[in-house]
Amino acid sequence: MVVGAPHVAILAIPYMGHMIPLSEFAKLLQVRYGFDVTFITVDNSFDVLSFTASLPGTIASVLLPQPSLHDLPPQSKIDTIISHTMARSVPSLREVIVNLKATTNLVALVVDLYGVDAFDISEELGLKKYLIFPSAATSLCFALHLAELDRTIEGEYQDHPEPIHVPGCVPFHGRDLMDPAQDRKDDSYSHLLYHSARYKEAHGIIVNSSIALEPRPIKEINSNTKFPNVYPIGPLIKNGNDVEGEDVTGCLKWLGKQPPNSVLYVSFGSGGNLSPEQLSELAGGLEMSGKRFIWVIRSPVITKDGVLMEVKTGKEEEEHLKEFMERINGVGMVVRSWVPQISILKHEATGGFLTHCGWNSSIEGMVHGVPMIAWPQYAEQKMNSVVLSEEIKVAIRMKVDDENGGLVKRQEISKVIKSLMEGEEGKKIEERIKSIQQEVTRQLDGGSSNLALDFIAKKWIAN
Ligand code: UDP
Repeated sequence: MVVGAPHVAILAIPYMGHMIPLSEFAKLLQVRYGFDVTFITVDNSFDVLSFTASLPGTIASVLLPQPSLHDLPPQSKIDTIISHTMARSVPSLREVIVNLKATTNLVALVVDLYGVDAFDISEELGLKKYLIFPSAATSLCFALHLAELDRTIEGEYQDHPEPIHVPGCVPFHGRDLMDPAQDRKDDSYSHLLYHSARYKEAHGIIVNSSIALEPRPIKEINSNTKFPNVYPIGPLIKNGNDVEGEDVTGCLKWLGKQPPNSVLYVSFGSGGNLSPEQLSELAGGLEMSGKRFIWVIRSPVITKDGVLMEVKTGKEEEEHLKEFMERINGVGMVVRSWVPQISILKHEATGGFLTHCGWNSSIEGMVHGVPMIAWPQYAEQKMNSVVLSEEIKVAIRMKVDDENGGLVKRQEISKVIKSLMEGEEGKKIEERIKSIQQEVTRQLDGGSSNLALDFIAKKWIAN
């Protein structure tokens, strides 16, 4: 056995919404408890390379080679692609873990939610199996009950006449379940069933949530003897001060000139996936509302058969955007690159957040007490939007017109923005989110989230 600082290996899937919280977990283990950490992911894009290069030098990072996926059908959904990527990376991951076991005091391999095939390596090398779930405890609770739902509900969940009841969770309409549960004949559903079943093998599940946010699903999981213990250590978000760097886009400078609580921050996350038609309605809605805004339009991306595809903005759209900017004349700012989201949410001029409900954005909004408009797009975002609007009650949900191909018209957008920024509903949400913000902070500062992390860390140290 090698002596030395206890060492933890963390396997993240190669997407920002996963790498960010998992690397924050790595930093906490190191700074607070003195662990050595190796952060492992798959080298599938420039984003991954630049992200791992930006990690503190004290965290070792390993990029596994992207395995070949040429044999997958071209219409494969993103969940299927990620599942195969992670499963086919197991041999190269094994080499890394065998080496860490031989040369360091390796005490745990912690895997991301698509990484459960790596449990085989833990089993083989006598390591405990831990899962880290960087989304809502509600989604985790749903996943742990999925086998039972699969046995008891016939047909597509979205056609089920009743809301889907999962113990401990707010009831969901079938069409609000995560994407892979929308088509039970698709491979992505088989992967979801498989992964969810293997979650039950874990010796513990670390979830990026808090008793202050989701007490019911957390209690349900912890009181169910068929499930592993869940450790709600969150909400863990990146520390804006240490990573945002310079204000390259100028949005913080612009915010500095706006009155307190007057600006709506609009972002659809690292994917950003509105169709050109929806972009134009959103522009119209922002303009009609008359409210100040920062709108992040990264390279527009649309969802085709569940696969994210980049769309080049045409000359005509560029022209529209230019005219729009001239018309709004300084009331809003459009940004077309990565922005320092945490610093924007922290800013006193920010009074609302129109979000796609990625879990990181959702918790960042709550930690900073910014009332939200929930406008989910893909993955498990619709489930998150139900949690935000119906369970935690910190967001107004945008009404999507399913009859109209899911397009949300400018009138509706403007109405929802006004009710958040100046209406009674907005005031109630603001009061609620400020109390949630306080409670979350209390749980992180020595409360239950802090104790859960302490428990896990001490368990690994005593290993
Ligand atoms: N983010 C950011 N700047 C951007 C877009 C996103 O800092 O311009 C960060 C955001 O703060 C969050 C993460 O990227 O931490 C996005 O994760 P989330 O789960 O919200 O959504 P995803 O991008 O995975 O859909």
